[in-house]
Order: sequence, then C-alpha cells, then structure tokens
Amino acid sequence: MQLIDLHLSVSGYCLAKENHSIQNGKKENIKFHALWGLIKHSSKGLILFDTGYTKRFYDETRSYPNRIYANLTKVEINEVDEVKTQLAKNGIDSSEIKHVIISHFHADHVCGMNDFPNATFYCSKNALSQFLRIPKKLAFTKGILKNLVPKDIQQRVKIIEDFSKKKEHPIFNETYDLFSDESIEIVSLPGHAVGQMGLLVGTSKNNYFLVADAVWHKEAYLDDRLPNPIVRLFFHSWKDYKESILKIKKFSHSNPDTVIIPSHCSASYEKLISTNINWDVL
Ligand SMILES: [Zn+2]
Repeated sequence: MQLIDLHLSVSGYCLAKENHSIQNGKKENIKFHALWGLIKHSSKGLILFDTGYTKRFYDETRSYPNRIYANLTKVEINEVDEVKTQLAKNGIDSSEIKHVIISHFHADHVCGMNDFPNATFYCSKNALSQFLRIPKKLAFTKGILKNLVPKDIQQRVKIIEDFSKKKEHPIFNETYDLFSDESIEIVSLPGHAVGQMGLLVGTSKNNYFLVADAVWHKEAYLDDRLPNPIVRLFFHSWKDYKESILKIKKFSHSNPDTVIIPSHCSASYEKLISTNINWDVL
C-alpha cells in the first residue's frame, strides 16, 4: 500500500430522530454531521472525498418540490464551515483541488462540488447513471438536488469501474485501485444509495476505511442495530444495504486495527476531525 496523508472535517449537519437512525434509539433529534476527507497524495496532490453541505442547499430547496426535502431534513450550514472556507483558512485555494471522489450523490455529500472548478470527479457507474437519468422534479425523492452538481459533470467525471485497476478482495470480492498505484482503494458499498462507494487508505500511523453512509452508526456493524424500518423508503435497496453492512462487519473482524469511519457517526470520528489541517494527526 502506498501511504497518503489524511485530514478529516465536517461541514454542516442535519437533524434526524435518533430512533429512526438506529433501533432502540432515543426519540430526540441528533446531529448528522456532513463529513469530508482531504488526502495528500505524493504525485496527485490534494484529493477530496465528498464535499459536505454549503449554503447552496438553502438556495436549491427554497421552492417546491425540493422544499419537501428541506422540510424533512433540517439543515444547518454557515459559510465559515464550508469546505472551501476551511481550505482557504489553511492556505489552500479551492482551484488547487484537482480530484474529488464522490461517495454518492446525496446533497450532504455533493453541495461543494461547484467550488472546485479544476477538479476531475470520480464516482461509480450506477451512481452517475441514476443522477443523469432522474428527472429534476423527482430527484429530491432520492436525496438528489441536481443543480448542486456541476453542469459539465459528464465532461469532468471518471467512472471508477472504468478508470481504475480492479483488484480481488477476500470480503468485497473486488475493489478498485483508483490511480493504479495502491494509494486509494475504492470499495463498492451499495444499498443506502445506488452505487455508493467507500475508500480504504493508509497513512504512516493507521489504516482508515471511510464507509460513507453504508452505516449511520457504528452499532450497525458492531451490534447489528439497524435503522428503524421506516427509513427503508429512502434507501435504494434494503437487501444490498444489509449485505454491505455484513461485509463491513466481516472486514472489521479481520482488520481490527483499521479505523472505520461512517460519514454521520460522530462517535467514530469526534477525536479525529479538525478545522486546522495538521497532516501529522491521522
Ligand atoms: Zn446518503
């Protein structure tokens, strides 16, 4: 494995009932922070994994039908917390970001895409084809707000399955070596959303598995505590979702030292995130 440097932070959050997101949870609202990762690669430069919330979420949900999305999901985001602002605070201009990996097209993962004019985007074949196919008026029913994604996405996107080198994997069957240099291994984790992708990376200190929304809480793969069945309505495939969780569970047993990071499980990363980039932490 070729080592990288990793930084993790969050940009905004939405509120959701804990008992919807996990069986036997409290009836209270909890914060679902929008996690993103920044990777420093020795030859590819800076690479983003997801792009958090931005204030564009408010613009795009002001009128119907997208307003229904905002009514269901109370979102809090201030400009100071957006990815581009956090990068600028650390002396990085968003034009320097040349690569952005998108786990899936839900709004809390793609709001910042338009802030990176020089980036190539990487996503799965199925995620892109759903995004391109779904009519604008219906997209919100799949958690997608089409204007959040750059208009020239088709010219700027690389399909992970076509672009990367396939590798056999004992648990995930196959994974994708993104740059064919063993630095970033992309793992298919479908179910929550169509074609969702996670990634495996290693720094000089640790291995990390960013699993996006394959689980919302670590208890899903640790204790088999799944979300309330009510959320099935919003998932692409409950069967695939459960299969992905089972694979993460197996992975965690055979790789106990790898830090597994679900995008909305604050307990998994509260000590690992920061708005100040210090490549020596992770
Ligand atoms: Zn999602």
